[in-house]
Amino acid sequence: MLTPQPTRQATALIVDDDDVMRLLEHETLSQFDFAVHEARDAHAALELLSTLLPDLLLLDVDMPGMNGFELCRRIRQRWDMTRLPIIMVTGMDDLESINEAYQSGANDFVSKPINWPILGHRARYVLRSAQAVRELHELKEKQAAIVQAIPDTIFLTDRRGTYLDVKAGFGLAPGSMLPGIVGRHVAEILPGEVAELVLRAIERSLQEGRIESLVYKLPLPDGTHHYEARLAPSGADKVVIVVRDITLQKLNEDRVRRLAYFDTLTGMPNRQSFLERLDHELLRAGRQGRVVALLFLDLDGFKRVNDTLGHSVGDQLLQAVADRLKERLRGDDFVARPALDESGMHLARLGGDEFTVVLPHLEDAQVVGLIADRLQAMLAQPFHIGSQEVTVTSSIGIALFPGDGDDASTLLKHADTAMYHAKSLGRNNWQLYDRSLTTAAIRRLALENDLRKAIERDEFRLFYQPQVLAADGTIVGVEALIRWQHPEHGLVSPGDFIPVAEESGLIVPLGEWVMRTACRQLVDWQERGALVPRVAVNISATQVRGADFIGAVSSVIDETGIGADQLELELTESILMDPDLRRIEGLSRLRARGVHFSIDDFGTGYSSLSYVKRFPISMLKIDQSFVRGLPDSANDAGITTAIIAMARSLGLEVIAEGVENARQADFLRRAQCDKLQGYLFSRPLPAAEVEQLLLQGRI
Ligand code: C2E
Ligand code: MG
Ligand code: MG
Repeated sequence: MLTPQPTRQATALIVDDDDVMRLLEHETLSQFDFAVHEARDAHAALELLSTLLPDLLLLDVDMPGMNGFELCRRIRQRWDMTRLPIIMVTGMDDLESINEAYQSGANDFVSKPINWPILGHRARYVLRSAQAVRELHELKEKQAAIVQAIPDTIFLTDRRGTYLDVKAGFGLAPGSMLPGIVGRHVAEILPGEVAELVLRAIERSLQEGRIESLVYKLPLPDGTHHYEARLAPSGADKVVIVVRDITLQKLNEDRVRRLAYFDTLTGMPNRQSFLERLDHELLRAGRQGRVVALLFLDLDGFKRVNDTLGHSVGDQLLQAVADRLKERLRGDDFVARPALDESGMHLARLGGDEFTVVLPHLEDAQVVGLIADRLQAMLAQPFHIGSQEVTVTSSIGIALFPGDGDDASTLLKHADTAMYHAKSLGRNNWQLYDRSLTTAAIRRLALENDLRKAIERDEFRLFYQPQVLAADGTIVGVEALIRWQHPEHGLVSPGDFIPVAEESGLIVPLGEWVMRTACRQLVDWQERGALVPRVAVNISATQVRGADFIGAVSSVIDETGIGADQLELELTESILMDPDLRRIEGLSRLRARGVHFSIDDFGTGYSSLSYVKRFPISMLKIDQSFVRGLPDSANDAGITTAIIAMARSLGLEVIAEGVENARQADFLRRAQCDKLQGYLFSRPLPAAEVEQLLLQGRI
């Protein structure tokens, strides 16, 4: 619609009863590039016009039958010809007929005698101006349609802020209110503050001659609406204000923000928004010289709640904890600055059962401990979830700004470290961050503490893995392997805690427990008819070097009633390196009593024959790292064959560990390995399940 139409030849219709006039007019208009049609009277003209829509009509007034005036009126009545340019040719130069020409709807007139060149120009001019009028009209219609179509409300005001016009949009004030505002002032319509903003923007936009924008909100009966207004100067002292309701957009933005920045379970800020806000808060606090405290709170034993009562109860507990924290912090005595409360600054859920509390204005360091105490006391009150009563305690770590870190993530890391420290000290307490505590050290400390309690709380379990004769799969022994049924972390494998138990010395009581339990189990099986010749127990170097290892083994044998030759102790190569002769004597005494010794993970340590010879060893266990590569790895095949040959020459038995597939088993069988152990036969299993295998006797 905006592109100009390709120029085509304009058409003109001449209506005149005078043949000569028609001829001359025809000639003139042709010279001015019109395609000309002729009619000799009104009736002929009307008939022609039923099929032809000319661009110009040249109309003689004085015709027999219907005269030009009447014809002009008739033409104007047709909807498609209201804007057809019509020039009347009057014979009379009198005012009256000129008037009548205009009244009947003509655009222009020429009077006889006709100045022919001027007729041509005039025809062209009338055509052009008619075209201009048409285009203007089209443009106006288009603009009106656009204005109607846009959802915005459009106001026109004068410089002082009086409404001059309005076009209602969607979603602004109820449409019916709008027409009444014309003639009234902005300040009569809008709340004071908003009116003030609008008036200032009107002035600015006029002064600077550019578009100003503005965002504000209005309280409406159905809730608060948000608006965006754009003010454009219109002429020297009027302003067009286009106002759009952006409430929905705002709501969506808020929703996106909530999803990105808030925890969906509790509605609290999440880690991301917590860190961002804390960073801002720390910047401000730095400038104002404030001390900020960060409390890192972790529920004790939350995993147990999840595991025993289910995730739904777990979620509800977290919500209840969050609610209690929110309620408490909103209340009286915690934080003196309600403004921050509103922004949710204080509280965040970092994930899982971890919450943070920020005290933005700590005047007395003592206060933070008091607050931590109160938080803990408050959370220790039982929660009622459905029909359940759930009690949890919490551990809190505290880091202070600026002393313990000057950005959010450092502060958080240190509060986390302090929290771990609190956990390691037995939970349900709070600790301030102490530089000397690295996270790793504290985690170890925490683990050690857990281990200590695990013994008292009886959290350890023994699994047993069968050992079979390579020749026919007869079960000839079981290896006892320890597991830790951790209340929070589930079943923990020995690799994760044995090293700590060894370093802390806890392996001594723990190892004794393993020995006693395994021996008792074997006796128990025996009594139930599930016979097994031997149980193998892993022994750490620390145990052997401990105060009275020999005595401990002896009393386990005595107390459980196991036959000494039914017990096998798996030693590591590092024990063989021990030059202490007294220890060798002690082990030899046990051997004399019947106890078997094997070297575990053989091939990974020093593997020195001279050491092996000095000890009363009866079996080598080929480490699973060699078995894994069998039979394809030439190196592993070579080592395995060599170990078996060496063992034979020393009169030792050989067992291969970690046998996972038949090809490995075949190779080992052919290499004359005596016994096999691995997933191919059975994984380590709880005692009851092993009992079934023992009753079968072979795998
Ligand atoms: P280990 O004595 O060499 O025990 C063999 C390990 O290999 C066990 O891991 C066992 O589950 C695993 N295993 C058995 N068959 C296969 C197999 O076919 N494929 C593979 N990939 N692995 C297999 P686990 O139970 O995690 O024990 C790891 C280590 O922890 C043991 O190695 C032992 O050194 C130590 N350990 C276990 N229980 C005790 C204990 O009561 N006291 C002491 N001091 N150490 C223990
Ligand atoms: Mg072992
Ligand atoms: Mg091993």
